[in-house]
Amino acid sequence: MPDCLFCRIAAGAIPADIVHADDEFVAFRDISPRAPVHVLVIPRRHIPSPADLADVEADLAGRLLVTAARVAREAGLDAAGYRWVLNCGPDGGQTVPHLHLHVLGGRALGWPPG
Ligand code: AMP
Ligand code: ZN
Repeated sequence: MPDCLFCRIAAGAIPADIVHADDEFVAFRDISPRAPVHVLVIPRRHIPSPADLADVEADLAGRLLVTAARVAREAGLDAAGYRWVLNCGPDGGQTVPHLHLHVLGGRALGWPPG
């Protein structure tokens, strides 16, 4: 999707602080971090939102989680813990219409979300 910000980051057309990249996923630091560690994990494939996972093979969703767990481990978050967030649509607070999993950690995180 040429007009999609995260497709452009995945393609290398827009710079990002990339912490992981493979054939299927890219992980990069959020430009406006909400925690000491704040990384976004995205599929290279343009999937607009978590709702669209209903139309995607389950293996991709599983590999997204495995990749996010590796990103968290490599960021040193395993011992203290961390949070994954998938915002979906307007009420979920999604602002970029390309599926992305937030990995947040490095401090104690409040619950429930506001
Ligand atoms: P969401 O609100 O769940 O859609 O999350 C989108 C995230 O993308 C926000 O946390 C933004 O700070 C982040 N973001 C927006 N533009 C960029 C960018 N160019 N590089 C890295 N992160 C970005
Ligand atoms: Zn996209």
